[in-house]
Amino acid sequence: LPRIVVAGNGQLGQMLQQAGAPLQLDVMPVDPNGDIELGLRPDDVITVEIEHWSDSVSGLQLKQHPNFRNAEALYAVIDRQRQKALLDRLQVPTSPWVSLEEGDLTSQLESVADKVIVKRRRGGYDGRGQWRWQKGDQPEAEWAGECIAEAMIPFSHEVSLVGARNAAGEKVFYPLTRNWHENGILRASVANLPVPAEQQQNAEEWLGRIMDDEGYIGVMAMECFVVDGKLLVNELAPRVHNSGHWTQEGSAISQFQLHLRALADLPLITPPVDGVSVMYNLLGRNWQPEWLQVPGVHVHWYGKEIRPGRKVGHVNICRANTAELIDSLKALQTLVDEADKVVFDWSIAQLE
Ligand code: ATP
Ligand code: MG
Ligand code: MG
Repeated sequence: LPRIVVAGNGQLGQMLQQAGAPLQLDVMPVDPNGDIELGLRPDDVITVEIEHWSDSVSGLQLKQHPNFRNAEALYAVIDRQRQKALLDRLQVPTSPWVSLEEGDLTSQLESVADKVIVKRRRGGYDGRGQWRWQKGDQPEAEWAGECIAEAMIPFSHEVSLVGARNAAGEKVFYPLTRNWHENGILRASVANLPVPAEQQQNAEEWLGRIMDDEGYIGVMAMECFVVDGKLLVNELAPRVHNSGHWTQEGSAISQFQLHLRALADLPLITPPVDGVSVMYNLLGRNWQPEWLQVPGVHVHWYGKEIRPGRKVGHVNICRANTAELIDSLKALQTLVDEADKVVFDWSIAQLE
C-alpha cells in the first residue's frame, strides 16, 4: 500500500492517521508551509486537509509530486468565484451570486438581492471573511475584486452530504447530515434522521456529478440549504469535513477511512449506518471525564491549546435509535458548560 502524505497537520490529518492505523496504512501529516526537505518517495500519494499554503520548500514538493491528488478540484474550489461558476456550469442549484468588481458596488449588490452575504473569494472558513449587506447599507470599497456577493437564503435548515469517489469512478455516500451553524461555525450535527428520498437522491446526483467532472479521488463534502423542502448548494469542501465527524463511531467505515480507501485504491463500499448520531463541537471548551459515563459518548480531543471559540475537539454521541440518543443527550446536557446546553436543546428538537 502507498504511504499517504497529508498536506496539513491539524486535527483532520491527525484523524486520518488514526483511521489508517488498523489497516497498517502509513499516514504522514506534514506542515506544507515549512522550509524542510520532506523526503517524499515516488510512490507516496499526496492528499490535503487544508486548502491554502505558501510556495515554501515543503509546499512545492507536495504540489509538484506526480501523485498529488485532486489538483484540478482544488483549483476550482479554493476560489469562491470559480466554485460558484463550477456549480452553475454543472447545473447544480446554488444561491444567486455575482463577482464584485471595481465600479458601482451598490448596483452590483442590488442586482443579487436586497439582502446579501459578501464572502471573500479565498481563505475564509468558520464564517471568517464574510459580511452581511442589505439595501441602504454602505458597501466597503475593498470588496471589489476580492469578494463574491450571494443572496441571503431564508433556509429552514442546513444539511450536508459527504461522499467519496475512487479512481475507477465508483461513488459512495453517507446519509444527509443536519447541521447547525452559529455565526458561521458548526456547533452540532445530527445524522441519520429520516429525510425525503428526493433530497438524498438529488444531493448524491449533484455531488457525484461534481466529483466525476473533476476526476476526484477521495472524500468530498457538499453543504446545502433546505428551502421549501428543496436543496440549494452552499459550498464544497474537497476533503474530509467537520459535518462528517459523526461517522467515526456512527458508521462502521468513518469518512477518514473512506478517504484513505479511495486514495489507496482499497475496496470502496457504501458505509453501513445503523443507529443515529449527534456530533457536538468543543469550541473553546475542555472535556470532562464524567462524560464518558454516558452511553454512546466518544470524545475526540485534538491536543490544541484552548482559546475562546476555537475548535479543540468534538464529541460523538451514537445510539441505536432516537429514544436512546435523546436519553444520552439529556444526560450529557447536565454535564456540559452552561453556554452549550442550547446545543443539546437543538439536537433533541431535531430528533423529536
Ligand atoms: P466552513 O467553515 O463551513 O468552510 P465558511 O466560512 O466557508 O464555512 P459558509 O459555509 O459560506 O462559510 O457560511 C457559513 C454559514 O453562514 C453557513 O453555514 C450558513 O449558516 C451561513 N450562510 C452562508 N451563506 C449564506 C447564504 N447565502 N444565506 C444564508 N445563510 C448563509
Ligand atoms: Mg467553507
Ligand atoms: Mg461552510
